[in-house]
Amino acid sequence: MLNLVLFGPPGAGKGTQSQKLIEKCGLIHLSTGDILRGEIAQGTTLGLEAKKLMDDGKLVPDEVVIGMISNKLDANPEAPGFIFDGFPRTVAQAEALDTLLEGKNTAISSMVALVVDDEELEKRLLERGKTSGRPDDANPEIIRKRIHEYNSKTTPVAEFYKQQNKYTSINGIGPIDQIFADIVEVVDAC
Ligand code: AMP
Repeated sequence: MLNLVLFGPPGAGKGTQSQKLIEKCGLIHLSTGDILRGEIAQGTTLGLEAKKLMDDGKLVPDEVVIGMISNKLDANPEAPGFIFDGFPRTVAQAEALDTLLEGKNTAISSMVALVVDDEELEKRLLERGKTSGRPDDANPEIIRKRIHEYNSKTTPVAEFYKQQNKYTSINGIGPIDQIFADIVEVVDAC
C-alpha cells in the first residue's frame, strides 16, 4: 500500500497536489478539513462544535479528527492506499495514525512537505477566499492565526517522520505541474 502524508501549512497546495495524485495513483484522499466541512454542511453536532474552532483559526480536538480518520480507514478496506491531507496536525495525531495503520498491517510510506513562505501563504489564502466561501480564508487575522497554529503545533509532526526516515521537503512555489513532478519523483511509485 502507498500511504502518503502530504504536509505543509494552509495554502501550501496540498489539496491541488492531492487531486493530481488521486488521478495518477487512484489513492483515497482523506482531508480532515474537507470531512469537517462536510459535517458542517450536514448540520451535525460534531460539525457545529467544530465550526466555532475552524472559523476562529484553531485546531479541533485530536480525538475528533482521529475518530474521523479511523472511520474512513474502516470504510475503505480495499483501498490501494491513502493520501492524508491536513492530517496529522499534531504529534498525538501522528502517533494515533501509526497505531491505526499498524492495526491494518500497513504504515505511512512517506511524508512529502510542501515548503512555502508565510507571505506567499497569506496572499494565496486571501485570493482563495474570494471564491472558496470559507470564512477562515476571508479574514487576514484568522489566516495569520491558522499559520501560527501550524508553526506552533504542526511543525513538530515533520520531526516525527524525520525520525522514521520518511520525510522529504519540496519547494511549493512554482508551476503546479513542476511541483507534482517533484512529488512523483520522491514517492517513486504508481
Ligand atoms: P484545512 O481544510 O486542512 O485547512 O482545515 C480547516 C480547519 O479544519 C483547520 O483550520 C482546523 O480548524 C480544522 N482541521 C482540519 N484538519 C485538522 C486536524 N487534523 N486537526 C485539527 N484540526 C483540523
